[in-house]
Amino acid sequence: MSEPLLISVLTCPFCGFARSELMPTDACQFHYECTHCGVLLRPNRGDCCVFCTFGSVKCPSIQSQQSCCD
Ligand SMILES: [Zn+2]
Repeated sequence: MSEPLLISVLTCPFCGFARSELMPTDACQFHYECTHCGVLLRPNRGDCCVFCTFGSVKCPSIQSQQSCCD
């Protein structure tokens, strides 16, 4: 079993700014404030965290096939 990837590139859907972020392994990050335009991003319905919605890599919980938020 491979280690989950912990760096995800979050792309802001409003301004297009992309930034690499380190994902927490112990919790889901539900909110993310774009460092460029300041908009507060939230996951799409059905996604557990902002990385699953906006990131280049799904969050560690999804990668390891565990349910993380319920
Ligand atoms: Zn933005």
